[in-house]
Amino acid sequence: MKKILITGGAGFIGSHLCKRLLKDGNEVICLDNYFTGSKSNIIDLIDNPYFELVRHDITMPFFIEVDEIYNLACPASPIHYQFNPIKTIKTSVMGAINMLGLSKRTKAKILQASTSEVYGDPNIHPQPETYWGNVNPIGSRSCYDEGKRCAESLFVNYHKQNDVKIKIARIFNTYGPNMHPNDGRVISNFIVQALQNKPITIYGDGTQTRSFQYVDDLVEGLIRLMNTTDDIIGPVNIGNPGEFTILQLADEIIKLTNSKSQIEYLPLPEDDPIQRQPDINLANKLLGGWSPNINLEEGLIKTINYFKPII
Ligand code: NAD
Ligand code: UDP
Repeated sequence: MKKILITGGAGFIGSHLCKRLLKDGNEVICLDNYFTGSKSNIIDLIDNPYFELVRHDITMPFFIEVDEIYNLACPASPIHYQFNPIKTIKTSVMGAINMLGLSKRTKAKILQASTSEVYGDPNIHPQPETYWGNVNPIGSRSCYDEGKRCAESLFVNYHKQNDVKIKIARIFNTYGPNMHPNDGRVISNFIVQALQNKPITIYGDGTQTRSFQYVDDLVEGLIRLMNTTDDIIGPVNIGNPGEFTILQLADEIIKLTNSKSQIEYLPLPEDDPIQRQPDINLANKLLGGWSPNINLEEGLIKTINYFKPII
């Protein structure tokens, strides 16, 4: 039985990871400051004797003895990470330093939840891990993008300088149950709007693309990455290459919810990437043939069924 710390464990992805790692027979410590996460996401785990919940902010040091750390703590939705940009940078950078320090002391293996945002508005398509990205360092997304890029640098340098066992997952747009209804990301926004027959808010003309991954596929990829041999340290894309325009996504959600919603066009936010699609050849090679199993329609149906009773 491994003792595993999950920072951001009460958030959307973290809650799924807590459940899966407990199911696999591990002891899980979930750490969260509840900025965007909530106890309701992990309420059904509270009585599990192998589950522990800690209210803590990773910008402050944390002491514990563990075998593995999944560092997920960080708001992920643009409206939330732009709410207090300095705090977002502190969470990514000081949080990484604190968690890497913990790893250095305990020799725990540590996985960083990095992001496709390190590629910015990419001018190489699809994006392989070797692409250095096209990020505006002073734009409104930079608190997140540059924070995550700095965290990757910290991870690599703690490995080189202090021999910390690191893994870096570059996660592409992920969705599923436990997303907050007011999270602000496109899939939760559209599903909630469609279920309420309210206008579907498309930012820009809807021709920008994203590649959407169902959360179970991501969790499988993260665990496989954590379990790779110690020589695998470099970033690995984890995403679903199925690429859709935002307009296609809106049409699909309207169809699956049988909604009467109309489309409303709103201004495109600053530096909104035009296209995004993961090259997952490396993940496929390193993670035992891993590739996503759940296509967009199947994943959307599961997510719609989650939102229906709570809307
Ligand atoms: P989320 O907002 O649902 O979860 C983040 C969790 O971190 C929340 O529970 C929040 O309360 C907690 N948190 C934030 N700041 C903290 C701090 N200073 N100390 C302790 N806890 C803190 O987002 P998510 O979608 O579950 O994302 C989880 C991780 O995955 C994030 O690091 C995010 O950057 C990364 N990621 C997510 C996606 C995606 O599409 N969901 C894509 C790329 C990367
Ligand atoms: N988007 C949109 N309407 C919304 C929310 C988002 O058209 O209500 C667009 C957004 O401008 C972006 C895409 O959907 O082009 C994905 O946005 P999200 O915030 O989910 O993820 P990210 O931009 O971080 O990839």
